[in-house]
Amino acid sequence: MDNCIFCKIIAGDIPSMRVYEDEDCIAILDINPAAPGHTLVIPKKHYQDLFEMDEAMAGKLMMVAQEIGKRQMERLGAPGVNLVQNNGASAGQTVLHFHLHVIPRYENDGAMVLWDPTQPTMDDLKAICDKLA
Ligand code: 5GP
Ligand code: ZN
Repeated sequence: MDNCIFCKIIAGDIPSMRVYEDEDCIAILDINPAAPGHTLVIPKKHYQDLFEMDEAMAGKLMMVAQEIGKRQMERLGAPGVNLVQNNGASAGQTVLHFHLHVIPRYENDGAMVLWDPTQPTMDDLKAICDKLA
């Protein structure tokens, strides 16, 4: 797709550090990593987000993320790994070509701010559950 930075990276028009490639996807080092080794798993086909993607591709990319996470633990010595995947501007998506962040985590790296936990009542939870179930 025109004007998509990840399509340009896939085409080789913009350089990247590729740690993995197969017929469906690439995995590249993030240019502004949250922690050393932060990797993006990106399908070669342009899907805007998770909801444009077929189930088979979603499953395939998760398998690749598993492989990258294993390498981060075994080769970079990361004791933990976060998977992050943003859909939509309100969720923090800035590049509108699906990507799965695989972020190696090190003790006290300060790499990620998690959400502030809230305290809903059981009624609040039930109302949401009834909508989602
Ligand atoms: P989002 O906020 O959309 O989930 O994440 C986009 C990610 O893409 C960011 O972490 C950002 O650092 C990364 N990024 C943006 N442009 C480039 C680029 O040109 N090369 C690489 N390797 N990463 C990029
Ligand atoms: Zn694209």
